[in-house]
Amino acid sequence: MLKTECPVCGADVELNDGTVKGELLECGECGTELEVINLDPLSLAEAPKEEEDWGE
Ligand SMILES: [Zn+2]
Repeated sequence: MLKTECPVCGADVELNDGTVKGELLECGECGTELEVINLDPLSLAEAPKEEEDWGE
């Protein structure tokens, strides 16, 4: 289990082993959608709120 801090509210956020860069998760404390931007060191950022439609 990996552990880091929510960049928005500072709460502890736990990540499953095998978490990959770019993975999205939700902070259990503030509900913000977070993106794993780096694994070493583990770093999270607030995910973009708008859902991009990349089209086809
Ligand atoms: Zn949070």
